[in-house]
Amino acid sequence: MCYFWRRALFVPFTILVLSLLAWAAVGALLASLFFSMFMLINLALHLRQLEALDYWLADSDQRIVPNGSGLWEEVFTRLNRMVRQHRKEHEQRVAALQHMEQATSALPEGVAILDEAYHIEWCNPLAERHFGLDCKRDIGQQITYLARQPEFVQYLALHEFSEPLVLCGARQNGLTLSIKLIHYGDNKLLLISRDITHLERIETMRRDFVANVSHELRTPLTVVNGFVETLHDMPNLENSMARRALHLMGEQMYRMEQLVDDLLTLSKLEDTLNALQEEAVDVARLLCTLHQEGQSLSAGKHTLRLELESSCALLGNADELRSAFGNLISNAIRYTPHGGEILVSWHEQGEQPVFSVQDSGIGISPQHIPRLTERFYRVDRSRSRETGGTGLGLAIVKHIVSRHKARLEIVSEEGKGSTFSIVFSSSRHLPVQAEKVIAT
Ligand code: ADP
Repeated sequence: MCYFWRRALFVPFTILVLSLLAWAAVGALLASLFFSMFMLINLALHLRQLEALDYWLADSDQRIVPNGSGLWEEVFTRLNRMVRQHRKEHEQRVAALQHMEQATSALPEGVAILDEAYHIEWCNPLAERHFGLDCKRDIGQQITYLARQPEFVQYLALHEFSEPLVLCGARQNGLTLSIKLIHYGDNKLLLISRDITHLERIETMRRDFVANVSHELRTPLTVVNGFVETLHDMPNLENSMARRALHLMGEQMYRMEQLVDDLLTLSKLEDTLNALQEEAVDVARLLCTLHQEGQSLSAGKHTLRLELESSCALLGNADELRSAFGNLISNAIRYTPHGGEILVSWHEQGEQPVFSVQDSGIGISPQHIPRLTERFYRVDRSRSRETGGTGLGLAIVKHIVSRHKARLEIVSEEGKGSTFSIVFSSSRHLPVQAEKVIAT
């Protein structure tokens, strides 16, 4: 028999033995009275211990575990050990948590933990400052209820966090934040906000500088170009060297004008105040025009085909789309040797409208592909110049693509050709009979 039962049955068994002895000495009635009385006393002692346990359980955090006697002594000793162990672990956990909180408070970034419905579960002091929160007061509140900037609310509503959100003029005056959301654990979200006001100011200065310089250059360039053209066309200009020099000067002036135009286009696209003006664009009609322009640029040196598999219109900006599509078509023509083939197509990939240009040209080796959309990045500088490139075409395309929340896909193999595709989101897909179709 185990130790517990031996101890538990010792007292009742002793009472029973004594009662039996009493039966022999004083008779059955007195013996049963003796037995019942001692059993009742035994029960009362147990109930007192139970009461002590109940009293402790009612406020176990504040009270100390009672000291039991008899059978209960062992139970209370074990309970006491367990409680001490539990308190120690709890203190260790609290210390670890405080340590973590101190570490996250020292972070140069705002950090907040949100649940799947964007309720705030915790945030560090910097996040409090960035979003105007009070960690104690606002726990459990939906963050969009407290930080109500439309861009932020829309960003959260879209559930698409691959790109960070740049939030200008957040809460505090003139503050620009870069906000990133990361999924972790069981449907939890880590919101990280970084103050990029200083970087944005430098970036704005850079943008303004480029825009101003380009703007200032435009007029003198037009004037000088006009004079060069006039001189070149003068009937009494006999000197062939002078004519050749003027011809070259005219070419370089044209290149500079193209460069200034592209820089101004980029500045306009980068301007945060220049929001995308959306309209229903008849892409099929736009592509027919670009196809004709492409044929005149190619001057019969390539087979240029147009495939319109989709008749859907697109929600976007006609001028910007024209510029992006036109740039890709002109690149395909410029980087495809004579006799090559170019296919321009407008089709659907599932629900997503796709514009693509496929060429059988010189292709691009894989290490260059990730850098193609950087300004002035050229694989072959001399070929780009020879064909009148500015090195800004794909940078312009990238901006237009991101303003339309689309993605640019580049597949290419050196010596075999390239395919540049712009994949639009299905939400931009419009039925053919759009109310207002812009002819371009
Ligand atoms: P560029 O004015 O030099 O063409 P882009 O920004 O339009 O500038 O293109 C950047 C570089 O990408 C080009 O210099 C060229 O090396 C490469 N490139 C672009 N399109 C193609 C293409 N269809 N085939 C091969 N190379 C291309």
